[in-house]
Amino acid sequence: MLEVSNLHSGYGRIPIIQGVALTLTQGEVLGILGHNGAGKTTLLRTIAGFLPTTSGKISFEGKDVTTAEPFLRARSGMGYVPQGRQIFPALSVRENLKVAAARCRQPVDEILELFPRIGRVLDRPGGALSGGEQQLLALARCLCVRPKVVLLDEPTEGIQPSIIDEIIETLQRVVLEKHISILLVEQNLDCLAALSKRILVLNRGKIVEILEDPKDHNSNRLAELML
Ligand code: ATP
Repeated sequence: MLEVSNLHSGYGRIPIIQGVALTLTQGEVLGILGHNGAGKTTLLRTIAGFLPTTSGKISFEGKDVTTAEPFLRARSGMGYVPQGRQIFPALSVRENLKVAAARCRQPVDEILELFPRIGRVLDRPGGALSGGEQQLLALARCLCVRPKVVLLDEPTEGIQPSIIDEIIETLQRVVLEKHISILLVEQNLDCLAALSKRILVLNRGKIVEILEDPKDHNSNRLAELML
């Protein structure tokens, strides 16, 4: 579904992503783990098209999208939920969803089945929601455009523990019921291990380790990596 090979990108002359390769199949959650500054956000921004690729290739559903504009990648099914969420704070929750849903005539109610908590606050301004609720709204809004892959940047960052489990459960349902694939950047090890079958460890813009089935075998290794 998504194939990235020998990807390089950076800011101006400063190289950040240096030769990353990954593949994401349908319905798979691929985790990306790394310390602050390892290049996780830069990797997602490059794949989403907000940062140019210096060299390498990004293929999506068999098509080369390496130089495609972000909106074309989004239109072909690549969703992106950036760090910090970026919802419209002055618009109501309902309006936030409608703005996205209008683009592909997706009924908002269908999406709300996955987000009961968001369904209860439809008339509140987006900016008045808690961090966790805003994260759920950002995810719901992304799903409104029927993505096949979601690039998800630290969905549990700064979120109260009580709502983290709900975010994890929602993401599990998104994968199981909608068959959506997720490239998941996360520093919360429980979230990563609960959702990912494979985890790529990123260090200074390079993949330095691949962990298979982290839930079953490698939770200690995960914790070691984050020390
Ligand atoms: P975090 O977990 O803190 O979000 P990260 O792994 O997502 O970190 P990036 O945000 O991708 O890391 O940053 C990778 C490197 O790129 C860092 O050294 C950062 O300072 C640098 N960087 C990020 N954004 C820019 C920018 N707009 N201009 C120049 N350098 C940047």
